[in-house]
Amino acid sequence: MEHKLPDLPYPYNALEPYIDTRTMEIHHSKHHQAYVTNLNAGLKKYPKLLKFDVDYLITNILKLPTDIRSLVRNNGGGHSNHSFFWDVMTPAKKSGKPQAKLLKEIEGSFGSFNLFKDKFTAAALGRFGSGWAWLTLENGNLTIEDTQNQDSPISKGRVPILGLDVWEHAYYLKYQNKRADYISAWWNVVNWAEVEKNLSKALK
Ligand code: MN
Repeated sequence: MEHKLPDLPYPYNALEPYIDTRTMEIHHSKHHQAYVTNLNAGLKKYPKLLKFDVDYLITNILKLPTDIRSLVRNNGGGHSNHSFFWDVMTPAKKSGKPQAKLLKEIEGSFGSFNLFKDKFTAAALGRFGSGWAWLTLENGNLTIEDTQNQDSPISKGRVPILGLDVWEHAYYLKYQNKRADYISAWWNVVNWAEVEKNLSKALK
């Protein structure tokens, strides 16, 4: 089956005023769509690969034909990362707070929720050029990391728990060069219930 752009779990204007409607619309319907379209175009030559989901493909890049490896890395990564990203956001009034298990794990790994937030923010700010900041799980331990372009922690065997897109296309219309303002606004729309779900699944 061809890869498909997933619907957003909320309308384009749902994350206002933190993430503006126009950015969400272009980000989802143009940028994410382009990753899906390019991925499908690249896989046309190898229809047998269409039976694999995108996370399998980006985890097994070295098993793929050499001529499509970077295409899958970039566009498969883009498709996977964005599909994940939409789900870890929600309208601010539903954002909530880390609870129970998630809060305990965060405090255990980083000392406190605020120290975690600072460290994640620093990773997102420090990512030079385009990329992502992540909270991931590896061997039962939470870590903060950043990746370049559309590289996914999944490719390195780590499970994403929370992710933030810091490509300029994610914030330039509203925040221009002020990535720090985008990041601090974004904390208002994190879907903590979904993050908790990601952690429980990963710990199983
Ligand atoms: Mn993006």
